[in-house]
Parts: sequence; C-alpha cells; structure tokens
Amino acid sequence: MVVILGAGGHGISLAYHLAKKGVSSTVIEMSRINYGSSGRNAGRFRYHFYTRENVEFAKEAIPYLLKMCKELPLNPVCVKTGYLWVLEDEKTLDVIKKMDGLWKSMGVGGKFLDCSEIDYLKSESQCYLAPQDGAFHHDYLTFGMYEEVKEEITLITGEAKELVVSGGKVKGVKVNGKVINSDVVVVTLGAWSGKFMKENGISLPVEPEKKEIFITEDLRYRVKPLVITPKVYFSHTLKGEIIGGVEDVRERGFLDFNVSLERTILFLRDVRRLIKGAEGIRVLRGWAGYYEMTPDHSHVMGYSESWPEGLFVDAGYSGHGMMFSPYSGKVMADLILDNVKSRFIDIFSPERFEKNRLVDERMVI
Ligand SMILES: Cc1cc2nc3c(=O)[nH]c(=O)nc-3n(C[C@H](O)[C@H](O)[C@H](O)COP(=O)(O)OP(=O)(O)OC[C@H]3O[C@@H](n4cnc5c(N)ncnc54)[C@H](O)[C@@H]3O)c2cc1C
Repeated sequence: MVVILGAGGHGISLAYHLAKKGVSSTVIEMSRINYGSSGRNAGRFRYHFYTRENVEFAKEAIPYLLKMCKELPLNPVCVKTGYLWVLEDEKTLDVIKKMDGLWKSMGVGGKFLDCSEIDYLKSESQCYLAPQDGAFHHDYLTFGMYEEVKEEITLITGEAKELVVSGGKVKGVKVNGKVINSDVVVVTLGAWSGKFMKENGISLPVEPEKKEIFITEDLRYRVKPLVITPKVYFSHTLKGEIIGGVEDVRERGFLDFNVSLERTILFLRDVRRLIKGAEGIRVLRGWAGYYEMTPDHSHVMGYSESWPEGLFVDAGYSGHGMMFSPYSGKVMADLILDNVKSRFIDIFSPERFEKNRLVDERMVI
C-alpha cells in the first residue's frame, strides 16, 4: 500500500495511475481535494519554457494531458488557444527572440507579428504567438481522475505530521495521532512540501510564494490566447470573463489568502488598457494561492539516496504544475511500482541542488 500526502492534482494523479496498475493507496489531506494550488490556478498549458529540459518534459506531458482530457469521466475541456507575448519592453523582446531559436529547433516554434493585427488588442508593440499552447479546467482534471478510481483510494482528512522511519527505511506517517503504516510515502504537498520535510529533518528547497488572480465580468468571447505582458497575464474563460494576474515577486511564506486592492487595480488597469471593449470592465472576484518555488524554478521528482528508503517526492512546480500533473503521476507510478526510471527522474532529482545540476527555468508566468 502506498501513502500519498496531499490531495492536489499531483497526489490524485499518482493515486489514479497506481489504481490503473491495480494498487490502491491512502491519500492524506489536511483540508479537501484541490484546497491548494490545484484549485486556485489559471488552468493554462504550454510547451514554451526557458530550459530545454522543461520543453522536453512539456513535449511528453502536454500530449498526455490532452489524451487524459478525452478519457476522463469529467471533461476538463482542454482547448488549444495559444499564448501571446506582448513584447512591450526590450528585455522581453530579447528573451523571446532567443527562445524562438530553441523552440523552433524543438518543433514548437511560434511567430512574430504586429500586435495591431490582433483584433482584440490595443497595442502597437510587436507580439509573439505560440499557437500550440492552451487551456483546461483544473477542477475537472483532478476530480475526473478521482472519480474514475475513488474505490481504490482511502482518503483521510488530517494533517500529516511525522514521518515514521526505522533502520533507514520509511515505515509510515503519523496523522490525527495515529500511525498509518506503509513502506512507501510520497510527498505531493505542493507549496507545503518543504515545510513538511523540514519538520522531519530533511532539506527540500520548496517555498510558497503567494500569487493573486482575478476574474472580470463577461466580455464578448474573443481574447482567445493567454496574453502575457511584462506586467500582467490574462485570457478568457469559456464563458467570456477575463481571468489573469499580475507579474509580481513577493516575500516567501504562507501569507494569508486575502486579495489586495493594489493588485486588483494593477490587473484591471492593464486589462482596460489592452483589450478593446474592456475600458469600463469590473472585477467580479479574486483569490490567492501559492506558487511552489524551488531555487531553479523547476520541479523535484523522485527520491534522494540520502533520504530514508521508501520516501518519494513530486513537488515544486512553481507556477506550472497543474498542466504537468497527469504525466507526473504516471512517471511516479512507473518508478514506485515497476522501478522504471524515466530520464526525467534524473534530470529533476532532488539531488541536483547538492550536485549543482540546476535546471535554470526563468519563464515563470
Ligand atoms: C494563481 C496561480 C495560477 C497558476 N496557474 C497555473 C496554470 O495556468 N497552469 C499550471 O499548470 N499551473 C498553474 N499554477 C500552478 C499549479 O496550480 C500548481 O503547480 C499545482 O496545482 C500543484 O499541485 P500539487 O498537487 O503539487 O499541490 P497542491 O494542489 O497545492 O496540493 C497540495 C495539498 O496538500 C495539502 N497539505 C498541505 N500540507 C499538508 C499536510 N501536512 N498534511 C496533509 N495535507 C497537506 C494541501 O491542503 C493541498 O491540498 C498556478 C498556481 C497559482 C497559485
């Protein structure tokens, strides 16, 4: 039996893939399914990353996400919408020019165009359209996976506290004052992963960074791609509201989930400035969540030789973990049950921080 800590997209995906191989699991969740970032994100997918390693990962993970979208009992509505960079400053223009070469060489090139050619935008800048990227609904993704295999999952509500270790091997985890016995424990605690590991004497550099996100009133359905400027990102929902957030670096830590007026205004200002017909649009609601930041902004999957045997992790996806959750669950299930070690287990190993083999991902959106 496998014990999974955290019922976000990654924990549920692992449980789903274990169940598909005939193995049931116990998932321990302190609140509810998708309480964390998996229920608080923008639901966008992309191939376009800064590092070759993350593009390669996306080239496996995004087709896998699209396939799962067609198979799940709930429909996460995966659609190709594209990502559109509005190159309003020299720095972003230079980065995208450089990235275009890499992306083309990897079969995911986009195209430069004048933003004035785009009917919904008010901008004279240059734009870059990456048509391969898109959108999906995060809740339907997690709950679709859960729905299909829920008979094989024991869901325990409680905060996982103490890892039980004996003779260098994992023996279980303590929750609600009781030990749940297992010789395999997988940490899929998102932004809380570093905290849990630290409390158990293990260093895993994953830290929370609070992000706010907003939805406006409906606009006519037309801002199809995810639009990224140096200050904000936004797109439409299927219904036609504008969803997005501000480009924002703030202190790390578990800051309260409240929403600030300051960021609401920053978001609204750029939406009104850039979208035709959105001049008087209002914000309907906003919420907050945590990006799960690692030192190189790339995720951590697998295990470390210095950890107790039987302890695994899949976390630290900064702002792009929802789209990767189906594929990561598969890679982790193959590793844990069949000892099949994907090349990504080496690339994104937690040992890379000590061995200085960072995957320096700079495109965090
Ligand atoms: C505003 C915002 C926008 C984003 N936009 C996108 C996007 O467009 N596309 C994309 O792919 N990604 C996006 N992301 C990132 C994505 O949401 C995350 O990378 C992903 O959801 C992480 O999933 P997870 O399962 O690892 O973690 P989580 O979903 O955070 O799940 C962790 C779970 O662990 C539980 N937990 C914590 N501590 C304990 C404990 N001690 N015991 C038991 N349970 C515990 C929590 O309650 C939580 O449910 C965005 C994130 C945010 C915040």
